[in-house]
Amino acid sequence: MFIKALVFFALIMIVVTLVKRGKKGGSSLPTTIDTSSENNMKRCAECGVHLPEQEALTYQTLSFCCNDHKKLYLKDKKV
Ligand SMILES: [Zn+2]
Repeated sequence: MFIKALVFFALIMIVVTLVKRGKKGGSSLPTTIDTSSENNMKRCAECGVHLPEQEALTYQTLSFCCNDHKKLYLKDKKV
């Protein structure tokens, strides 16, 4: 009787750990990173790279990753 209870308990523990592993590997991590980072991210109008708002160079409504890309983009617009 005692052994049966022990085996039953072991089976429950195995199932619980498997369920926990499945939840960790599956869904939550990528989505939380996306939603939290997008709020303060700017996209370079020239090369399309994403960077934090504080590091982005802005020109009117546009954002750039560096001064060179700002120049390049404005050059292309004028010609
Ligand atoms: Zn760029």
